[in-house]
Order: sequence, then C-alpha cells, then structure tokens
Amino acid sequence: MSTQNAFEFKALPYSYDALESFIDKLTVEIHYCKHHKAYYDNFINAIKGTEMESMDIKDIFRNMSKYPIAVKNNGGGYFNHTLYWENMKSPGNDAPSGKLSEAIIKTFGSFEEFKKQFSEAGKTRFGSGWAWLCVDNKANLFVCSTPNQDNPLMDIAEKQGIPLLTIDVWEHTYYLKYHNKRVDYVNGFWDVVNWDEVAKRYENGLKSISN
Ligand code: MN
Repeated sequence: MSTQNAFEFKALPYSYDALESFIDKLTVEIHYCKHHKAYYDNFINAIKGTEMESMDIKDIFRNMSKYPIAVKNNGGGYFNHTLYWENMKSPGNDAPSGKLSEAIIKTFGSFEEFKKQFSEAGKTRFGSGWAWLCVDNKANLFVCSTPNQDNPLMDIAEKQGIPLLTIDVWEHTYYLKYHNKRVDYVNGFWDVVNWDEVAKRYENGLKSISN
C-alpha cells in the first residue's frame, strides 16, 4: 500500500440536479467538478514533499500563517466546499431542532434573527468569500464572514471558531441562475439547509472543545 495522504476529494452527497430549487444543475456540476476539484488538486500539489502531507488539515489551518499562500487559498477552497456541499440537501430541514435550536435562540434571540444576521454576512461580504455560523472555544455561537477561501479555523481569521454552517458567496456559485443578484441566492439557501448535518457538527464541536 502506498502512504497516500489523508486528503480525500469526497463524492457529492447528491446528484448535480438535486438542488434545482436553489441552484441549477450546470452550476453545481461546474462548481464541483471544475472549481472544487481544482482547489483540491492545487492543494495536493502545494503540500507535496512537505510536513503538511501527514498533517490533519485543521492543524494546517491552525498554523496557516506559517505556510505559503497557495496552501491557504487551495486548502481553504478544498475544505470549505466540502462543508458547503454537505450542509445542503433537498428538501432541507425548515429549522434546527434540539440543542442547536436552543443555542441559536439563546444567542440570537430567535431563529429568524439568526437567519437575518447570517444572510447579511453573506450579502455584505465584499468581493468573494464565505459566510459562517461557528461555535467558539467557549461554546458560544457566532456569525462571521471570511474573504477569498479563508475560513474561521485559520489562525489568520479575524474571529476563530469551528464552522457549523457555511454559504459560498463567490460569483461562480450563483451567476448562471441569479446573475448579479447575490441577495436572491442567499435568500434561497434556506430551502436546502441540511440542519441534521449542522447539528452533528455542533455536537462534535462541543465535544472537541470540552476535551
Ligand atoms: Mn465555490
């Protein structure tokens, strides 16, 4: 057996047309097969022959400022897109339940207010980037956005935390269907959120910070 690295380009958890109510088939196909795959390939290239090949990607992000910008851009692009695909499904769950629901209401006042703040983070991110719901190392939820392919696990992030939910707001994500209307794209996102997956990330996140 070869000592293959642990970085896997995971299959999409649904077909290209599964999210049609939100995003068209062609966009999903190009986004996954071209954009996401290119980040993955470039990331693997960028870490070739370095200590990063045998590291956990989260440890790379934790030490991001030590490493070349190609690792940040492509490692972020690789990792962020996997989270994005997996936190969507169709039909989505209308709302979270259980502990995550309680934490959202406690933090933001209501589920509607959370949606407003998260949407706003996506709509107002200048240029290209991502909006996030995260849990910080004191178990508090927060909403933020990051530029380019940065994410909140990176030591260079303005606010650091464990990602629970994310939306890609690069133009390549919405331009074919929504043209310049990022607002409509962000509003449509709520129909396909996989809250079961987000709840799982929250549970795992809480476990990892209590250890
Ligand atoms: Mn993208």
